[in-house]
Amino acid sequence: MTQMQDSRLDDRRLAAVRQDFPLLQSGGGSLAYLDNAATTQKPTAVLDAIVDYYRHANSNVGRGYHRLGLAATELFEQARETVRAWIGAEHPDEIVFTSGTTAATNLVAETLGRRLVGAGDQIVVTAMEHNSNLLPWRRLCEQAGAELVVVPVNAAGVVETADFAAALGPRVRIAAFSHVSNVLGTVNPVREMIAAAHRHDVVTVVDGAQAVPHRPVDVRDLDADFYCFSGHKVYGPMGIGILYGRRELFATMGPYQVGGGTVKGVSFEEPVAYQPLPSRMEAGTPDVAGAIGLAAALRYVDGIGWDALRAHDADLVRGAVRELGRLDRVRIIGDPGLDPSGIVSFAVDGLHPYDVGGHLDQHEIAVRCGVHCASTFLDSLGLVGTVRVSFAAYNTWSEVERVIEALGTVRPGFW
Ligand code: PLP
Repeated sequence: MTQMQDSRLDDRRLAAVRQDFPLLQSGGGSLAYLDNAATTQKPTAVLDAIVDYYRHANSNVGRGYHRLGLAATELFEQARETVRAWIGAEHPDEIVFTSGTTAATNLVAETLGRRLVGAGDQIVVTAMEHNSNLLPWRRLCEQAGAELVVVPVNAAGVVETADFAAALGPRVRIAAFSHVSNVLGTVNPVREMIAAAHRHDVVTVVDGAQAVPHRPVDVRDLDADFYCFSGHKVYGPMGIGILYGRRELFATMGPYQVGGGTVKGVSFEEPVAYQPLPSRMEAGTPDVAGAIGLAAALRYVDGIGWDALRAHDADLVRGAVRELGRLDRVRIIGDPGLDPSGIVSFAVDGLHPYDVGGHLDQHEIAVRCGVHCASTFLDSLGLVGTVRVSFAAYNTWSEVERVIEALGTVRPGFW
């Protein structure tokens, strides 16, 4: 694994980072992978951690009293501890492994949400939410007879605390909002939003899927009640994610799914006695290798260091904003340069985003185009979609230059 802690990713260090990612070397290494907000590539450290687990420690966890079972359980719990420390949670039992952000928001909606939200109540979301942090709340409102309140986003693509606070009132039970927009890469003032919600006794659920790959997050500093993210967007494997929950709140929640691992004991006569946290929330065999791979990914991020990652991110985002802004027909959506978070989204006048994405693919450049699982947000922006360029630690300035050059020859009608 690349071990470096200087404050910038110079060319030599960037080359070393790229060497850590086998996929970037394949096919002669000519692909410019700029779809990192969808999923990042995986470093060798993560791939090795997963293979090592299956080669040397594979066993079910929390069940077997043989040495392999105990070893696997220890590795699994060490992974939980790595996540705990990485996001600044107080207790390991505040960290529940899920399959991703989507599973985490659904878990809260279906447990605490169902208990807290009744007819006539309100749930607050923002206009920028990804379907994974919109639909669980919308469905809950529909089923409970509650109202979904949508807070607008300003011209820069950010939720203003005052607008958010204005939506809070005695009927609001839960507020669910993104830390960073997956569409625009803009950053919400989540600490202030959480403080405003708490003044109204409103429970907060923060979707951190696009935040944790680009900035250090401390859940205690934010004072979040719930905070979730997906491993695969932060160099970890697919199929593993995190739901952080404040212990006092988590402790009041019944299990989401029930089954093996969630109970102390079952009989047909007595009420079911569920396990304490976090086992109560992790029904069935967990993705042990995924958890171990995620922990390796978080250590990988630490190995590069936030100063270097943030500076690199800012160089790429602000540079891309500057260069894209010079192109005639290109319109950047929102202000991603304000507080760079790895994403720049744009529209090209007269062209469908798929035309642009297809053209860039012809130039071996992978970007995401369309509505980014947030069609309600795109509708509110009056757009059919955007082209989204999203960066990771291994991206280079020459990849941005390739985008700019390719955009110079894009024509309608590819799609
Ligand atoms: N929330 C945001 C902001 C996202 O960007 C994504 C993924 O694109 C999700 C939620 C859903 O993540 P997952 O599909 O890993 O559950």
